[in-house]
Amino acid sequence: MTQIPDIIAKLRVTHDARRTRPLAWRRGQLLRLRAMITENETDILEALHADLGRSGFETQLVETGTVLSEIRHVLAHLKSWMRPQRVATPLTNQPGRSAVMPEPLGVVLILAPWNYPFYLIGMPLIGAISAGNCAVLKPSEISAHTSKLLARLIPAYLDPDAIRVVEGGVETSTELLAQHFDHIFFTGSANVGKVVMTAAASHLTPVTLELGGKSPCIVHDDCDLEIAARRVAWGKFLNAGQTCVAPDYVLVQEKAAARFVEGLKATVTRFFGDDPQASPDYARIINDKHFDRVSKLIGDGQIACGGETDASTRYIAPTVLTGVDPAAPVMNQEIFGPVLPVISYGAIEEAIDFVNRRPKPLALYLFSNSQQIRDQVLGQTSSGGACINEVVTHLAVPGLPFGGVGASGMGACHGRASFDTFSHAKAVLTKSERFDVPLRYPPFSALKSRLIRLVS
Ligand code: NAD
Repeated sequence: MTQIPDIIAKLRVTHDARRTRPLAWRRGQLLRLRAMITENETDILEALHADLGRSGFETQLVETGTVLSEIRHVLAHLKSWMRPQRVATPLTNQPGRSAVMPEPLGVVLILAPWNYPFYLIGMPLIGAISAGNCAVLKPSEISAHTSKLLARLIPAYLDPDAIRVVEGGVETSTELLAQHFDHIFFTGSANVGKVVMTAAASHLTPVTLELGGKSPCIVHDDCDLEIAARRVAWGKFLNAGQTCVAPDYVLVQEKAAARFVEGLKATVTRFFGDDPQASPDYARIINDKHFDRVSKLIGDGQIACGGETDASTRYIAPTVLTGVDPAAPVMNQEIFGPVLPVISYGAIEEAIDFVNRRPKPLALYLFSNSQQIRDQVLGQTSSGGACINEVVTHLAVPGLPFGGVGASGMGACHGRASFDTFSHAKAVLTKSERFDVPLRYPPFSALKSRLIRLVS
């Protein structure tokens, strides 16, 4: 632990020597990161299975596969992102040229949670490298197998003078947060987000906070209910509900409610069989604390399907609840587990009001084929991101910035948004010395005053 200040001092030496600035270094590190994943994919899938009981397919889909496609996207665009971007120069500053020049921030800290412990280190790391920074990575101590694997692989593949992994829990995070970084990229809970922001304030360090919350899913009666049930069940029960953008709860139009719930039940059986506990494709809850917390929430409604639990393996069945009181605990905390409350509404305005009475969510999902309903819901609600007739997969569109708003976070990542997050946009004006308009210099006069009004 006491080496933390030394680690940061060494990274600062590397950054100050401008080692991480050239395109060649950035591309080289991204290629090494790609090699790290492709050459060690079996170990990565095994670590994730040991942490979360998750199937290898699911890990490839949402962790290694997404990180590899982000690397491909960044490699294709990095050169053009690094170029200064020209902007118009007004008459008052002619003859001259103006451009926005991205520059690295310096030494950055990336703090990750346990639910997608590989992806949530990998994605911001790609951003930090692409923008030419040095980085300290602190994986979650709760996903211990992945943390240990990252601590072994990263120094073996990436430049150890620029990228370091520091393992540990709250004590380690606290010591890291006491240091001066040039940016802190935090993914995790809102409560710890406040701790991070408070610590960052003492160094005037900017932060990106990727938080969570309750992402609503509105299912209107004009959509294809079978597709809606299938996609919602997939997004909710992926990683046993431990996904920041999982549909936390569903608001379904009352005429469609019974059919939608039947569709969810049928989908769960199709996905995981009659006994999901025996399915190799269904994950487990990360630890006993979360198992106890999520198990208790099952009592907050009538069980339409699921409800079974097994503490010895931290199994909670894919569970759908109806008849839920909006004041119940299940509707007042991020569920972060495989329990899906389904609440019905009459007019779409009721669903919009329901969402707007709660903190701004990370994602909002709407299933509807009416343009008017889509416009109304998107135009009258606020959320970090949104999908129409889909859930979760907006994360896999590299051109879309990913981040929260209000209580669900601040700042954004993925693709260009990550590059921008880890860069300072330096404004540069270059003037010619060929002639020097005397208008702005004293002594002033009525004529100069009239001229300035004309050109401004
Ligand atoms: P967490 O906030 O408990 O932990 C996140 C990180 O902070 C870990 O590395 C942990 O070691 C560290 N930490 C924990 N307590 C700390 C403290 N007191 N001081 C300093 N550091 C501390 O989050 P979690 O339980 O690991 O993850 C779940 C949360 O993360 C959920 O709310 C989920 O929605 C959110 N999340 C958000 C995203 C996103 O991209 N927006 C992605 C995944 C998870």
